[in-house]
Amino acid sequence: MSKHVYIKTFGCQMNERDSEIIEQLLSQAGYISVAEQEDADLVILNTCSIRAKAEQKVFSLLGLLRKQKEKKPELRIAVAGCVAQQEGKQIFKRMPHVDIVVGTQQIYQLPDMLLRLDRNETRKEVSCDLEKSFTIPPFQKLLTAEKGRPPSPAAPEFRKFVTIMQGCNNFCSYCVVPATRGREISRPVSDILEEVTLLANKGVKEITLLGQNVNSYGCTNSVADQQTGFADLLQMVARIPGVERLRFTSSNPQDLSTELMQCFAELDNLCPHFHLPVQSGSNAVLKRMQRKYTRELYLEKVDILRSFCPEIVISTDMIIGFPGESELDFEQTMDLLETVRFHGSFSFKYSDRPNTRSANFTDKVEDKVKGERLQRFQKRQDQISLQRNRDYIGQTVEVMVESLKPDSVQSRTGSNHIVHFMTSPVHRFTPGDIAMVTIIHAGKHSLNGDLAA
Ligand code: SAM
Ligand code: SF4
Repeated sequence: MSKHVYIKTFGCQMNERDSEIIEQLLSQAGYISVAEQEDADLVILNTCSIRAKAEQKVFSLLGLLRKQKEKKPELRIAVAGCVAQQEGKQIFKRMPHVDIVVGTQQIYQLPDMLLRLDRNETRKEVSCDLEKSFTIPPFQKLLTAEKGRPPSPAAPEFRKFVTIMQGCNNFCSYCVVPATRGREISRPVSDILEEVTLLANKGVKEITLLGQNVNSYGCTNSVADQQTGFADLLQMVARIPGVERLRFTSSNPQDLSTELMQCFAELDNLCPHFHLPVQSGSNAVLKRMQRKYTRELYLEKVDILRSFCPEIVISTDMIIGFPGESELDFEQTMDLLETVRFHGSFSFKYSDRPNTRSANFTDKVEDKVKGERLQRFQKRQDQISLQRNRDYIGQTVEVMVESLKPDSVQSRTGSNHIVHFMTSPVHRFTPGDIAMVTIIHAGKHSLNGDLAA
């Protein structure tokens, strides 16, 4: 009899992609995915530890699962992802009802680990050796998994993530990624092109290339062709027939080359949206963060980007209340926001993470102050986002349909704005369809429009 698996994904797109791979591997092992946790024989938490809050969410869900397991003792619980990698077997001590802990680069071993658990081997034996140093990830398996994935006629996929590299070598002083995801390794160009071609042939229209810092693709610890930088890779992927929209994330400004920025002027299918995390507007804070650029260099790159592509939408990440951040430093961040007028941003209160340099900094900012600054930043960002979104009113824009509601359609522009439009019947649209919509209303997070004649 088939077993049912429920996968809960926390955090970033990297984790969403890993969850897809886990789902694919388990489906080959006879598991069926279910939408409700209560219907599952196996619950997998694919976790994130980038901020303290993200990690707390994992442990509070594990607490709830303890009660579910008391009622249903045969329930299996697995912890994957960054918390698993970071905490390792400590998780068993804190959460004795957990059966499997699997690190970020070992998800391919999950089916085998489940088999061994079924054969009554102990939890300790079936968990991966998380202490082992990182190895070159089995990139080849990404391709094999994609080749084996049957198309789903019920929910045809129109957009997909494609991993182009793993890990990170930047060691920003606040960040756990190099510890949880290992050193930076680039995937071979030929594999990436083959996977995108395969996806495009299956009808996928939008591709997002994924890496912690895609700008340094091919530069370090590469199994890739070292001659191919990210801008070259982007050009090659953009030329694959069927790729209607191309995106990428994430980018560290320090490695942003003119060649890459130029791609926005040259490639019609490269979406005019750049997520360029700045983290702070103060040079003193950037230095302590070990970010290897200044606010001046960041502003220069923004100007160049806008000269290549005037309509480009720029969004960012901001850490508020980094240790030692003075009121003056924070004013610099507010000033950068006013100068760039980001279309949107993800802003977070700084939190200490295990084994990072900044966790040992002594001049921590009081939580109340962090909270007040974050609120001030977000309030101003919301006003700017609304003003920027209002500029679209009256414009007719191209959108890709994402999902259908009873009487309206949710879609997205190349610039990454969500657009809702009314239509009847909605079912004349399928996710992935392109439509032209005239914008009639703007909110701070989305736009509303009418179908253009
Ligand atoms: N690679 C990207 C870059 O270089 O900017 C960042 C990816 S990181 C996974 C996502 C975001 O989490 C970061 O941009 C940062 O704003 C935030 N972040 C990371 N560590 C943090 C910490 N200790 N406290 C608060 N936010 C943090
Ligand atoms: Fe973390 Fe990004 Fe810095 Fe890498 S570049 S250490 S992922 S913040």
